[in-house]
Amino acid sequence: MANLWDQPATTALRADGLRVADVDTSSRPGFTGDKRQGKAALTERGQVLSKLQEKLFAHGRTGGDRSVLLVLQGMDTSGKGGIVRHVIGSVDPQGVDHASFGVPTEQEKQHDFLWRIRKRLPAHGQLGVFDRSHYEDVLVARVHDLVPRAEWEQRYGQINKFEREVAESGTIIVKVAMFISLEEQKRRLRERLQRPDKYWKFSPADITERDYWPEYQKAYQAILDRTNTEYAPWYVLPADHKWYSRLAVTELLIDALTSLRLDWPPADFDVAEQMRLLERS
Ligand code: AMP
Ligand code: MG
Repeated sequence: MANLWDQPATTALRADGLRVADVDTSSRPGFTGDKRQGKAALTERGQVLSKLQEKLFAHGRTGGDRSVLLVLQGMDTSGKGGIVRHVIGSVDPQGVDHASFGVPTEQEKQHDFLWRIRKRLPAHGQLGVFDRSHYEDVLVARVHDLVPRAEWEQRYGQINKFEREVAESGTIIVKVAMFISLEEQKRRLRERLQRPDKYWKFSPADITERDYWPEYQKAYQAILDRTNTEYAPWYVLPADHKWYSRLAVTELLIDALTSLRLDWPPADFDVAEQMRLLERS
């Protein structure tokens, strides 16, 4: 298939200097194709992703110490679950470590906010996926004053220090902030209320949270301004078009895995000798 990107997703979506208020949530940065072409590209590139992930897994099985961590943030209905199902769903589940972070449990509340996060970091050879993350502790916690300002203010620095350690231990961190418009969120919530098979995803708080949209935009701006580092960059993903957001995240992961430059692990046995023994058996 022809290359339908006029610039790589990694360039088109980089958060550097970006204003959240300026994001056109219905845009498709870098991609020149239409929906049909986007869906076809997702199928094709999903296979590339799958092969690369298998290499990472094989590497981990043979003593390698690399891993990849995808951090997904976004308002309710922004499509985090769809990324997990349609992008991560194209790779072998044994190489995936998926963690979702909701309201902290009583036990989790007894500890530092990074405690539950550290426990779920991907092991060597794994593709880790965080559906929400430690960023909730500077998003919902900031918007709703769950802790005093002095406490959440400190967290940006703590997050950067933590992510630097994670990166230095061999994990490539890919952070994706998904942005939909307030109108698009209304459509998606309406659909949840119209379909019994979607009720389980709905929470009455999703409606009241809409009143805090500007505060969330501000809190997202702060994480882009303060935690967009070279070792753990943010990508800003316009997410009104689900097909685009899934394709773009696939490209970001392909780029991360490719940058590891992994080869298939060499045989630790004499291939010719084993072939000879096999034929004789
Ligand atoms: P969902 O992703 O729809 O299952 O919702 C999870 C909920 O947990 C969201 O409303 C989040 O804002 C909330 N949540 C996640 N992490 C935290 C946190 N650290 N503190 C408070 N609420 C959180
Ligand atoms: Mg929800």
